Amino acid sequence: MSAVHIENVHKSFGKLEVLKGVSLTVEAGQVVAIIGRSGSGKSTLLRCINGLETIQSGRIEVVGHTVTYTDEKLRALRKDVGIVFQSYNLFPHLTVGQNIMLAPRITKGVPKEEARAQAEKVLAQVGLSEKFDVYPDNLSGGQQQRVAIARSLAMQPKVMLFDEVTSALDPELTGEVLLVMEELARGGMTMLLVTHEMNFARSVADFTVFMHQGKVWEMGPSEELFSHPKTPELAAFVKSTL
Ligand code: ADP
Ligand code: MG
Repeated sequence: MSAVHIENVHKSFGKLEVLKGVSLTVEAGQVVAIIGRSGSGKSTLLRCINGLETIQSGRIEVVGHTVTYTDEKLRALRKDVGIVFQSYNLFPHLTVGQNIMLAPRITKGVPKEEARAQAEKVLAQVGLSEKFDVYPDNLSGGQQQRVAIARSLAMQPKVMLFDEVTSALDPELTGEVLLVMEELARGGMTMLLVTHEMNFARSVADFTVFMHQGKVWEMGPSEELFSHPKTPELAAFVKSTL
């Protein structure tokens, strides 16, 4: 079974139709980049995948869950699907370790010692082992975003969604976050990421989806898609990012 299966999804905000029949299948272990102009529906699509937005029609299946909007189903879905946003939103009054342990403790009832061991493990994964007892304010933006990724990993998700996670960072801090994501990809995590980092999409993503006006306008193996755009819209978009 596919890790993510999206079938003819329509999503509107009032009269504004934002997703106009989107279909997309992602196999376990694949990394998919989603690119496109601002307003093309990229964030909305990600948010639909873990049930942060309700859809009007179509179907979304994620690692055995059909996205359904009851509290119980949403809870079950979100245990398996992590999402990281541009704004990392760490709790400033909690240490890095406490931030990471919080969700497993509360939503999964993981015992404290186990949660701590897990937090240490994911913190090592993002290269911040020494920051366990530090408060977020004492970290750089790049480090805070890496903690946010670790916090999501602590829930042991089967799929990870990333929405422009480097867009708010100073350019010199984006590399360390992209490196963490690249390692995660290498480790076999199923990932969908909205990004402006075209080089990253091209080199790390197995395939890339170009969204335009609420549709999957074009998609294909990343290298192929970037080097040989088939539509003038993608060609223009790629050119605008060079
Ligand atoms: P992207 O991430 O590609 O920039 P979005 O998915 O954020 O695009 O937005 C697609 C369109 O949906 C935009 O026109 C945006 O203004 C609109 N939109 C997004 N979220 C909402 C919302 N909560 N209410 C109304 N309109 C929204
Ligand atoms: Mg967006």
